[in-house]
Amino acid sequence: MDIKGKNAIVTGASRGIGRAVAVRLASMGANVAVIYSGNESAAAETVEECLKHGISAKAYRCDVSSAEETKNTVQEIRKDFGSVEILVNNAGITKDGLIAFMKEEDFDRVIDVNLKGAFNMIRNTAALMLRSKCGRIVNISSVSGIMGNAGQANYAASKAGVIGLTKSVARELAAKGITCNAVAPGFIETDMTRDIPQENNPLLSSIPLGHMGKTEDVAEAVTFLISSDYITGEVLRVDGGIAM
Ligand code: NAP
Repeated sequence: MDIKGKNAIVTGASRGIGRAVAVRLASMGANVAVIYSGNESAAAETVEECLKHGISAKAYRCDVSSAEETKNTVQEIRKDFGSVEILVNNAGITKDGLIAFMKEEDFDRVIDVNLKGAFNMIRNTAALMLRSKCGRIVNISSVSGIMGNAGQANYAASKAGVIGLTKSVARELAAKGITCNAVAPGFIETDMTRDIPQENNPLLSSIPLGHMGKTEDVAEAVTFLISSDYITGEVLRVDGGIAM
């Protein structure tokens, strides 16, 4: 699919991976709806970066875990942009803890944002994509969802859930020309991984390529999957080889 002239929604686009995806889509000629949860100034910066590429871009505050907010926001985006052909479900959070001590609310919140958030957004945009007779959905999972990770039972479960969601949606919408894929990053340099100690860290020394990834590495994989007409239901790792 030619990305130029298409309308894209990127969730969690105020910072990190989402911002890199939004800016890369804009650089390829897509108009971008930038969804964020609270960081208005960061979202405005993303919009400014996108606008430099001569496309339309606008920020929308929306908690993706809310069925009502996602419905209203997608309706607003449709009014502003006219159609939606691309959805990147990137918004995500961590609330790590060992299983014996993990609070119920921390388990629920991570599932609600990371998994239900993607479900909410797909549910609300699928009808628009069906109308456009074309669509590209990319969900950001994680190597934690493939391999599991001690201290991340909630997060790994949400990200494994995203893979099941991706494959089910891919099967369901394939006949309508809509693809759905996932990208599973490893350790990427963002606010989420800011506190990981860099020195003598066995987690980082387990990366075959020997260093953390950059947000642009993930954005490149996302736009590759969006461009492809014949890849669906795939989980593309961008992890320096951790989960091979
Ligand atoms: P980040 O820098 O912490 O940014 C998170 C983004 O999600 C922000 O834009 C934030 O908005 C938004 N967000 C959080 N909760 C939200 C909600 N309820 N509704 C809407 N937006 C919400 O994260 P990141 O490191 O770029 O990660 C992006 C995605 O990649 C996540 O799904 C994460 O799980 C996944 N991932 C990251 C890594 C990594 O190493 N960084 C590895 C594997 C997977 P505000 O700015 O408004 O708070």
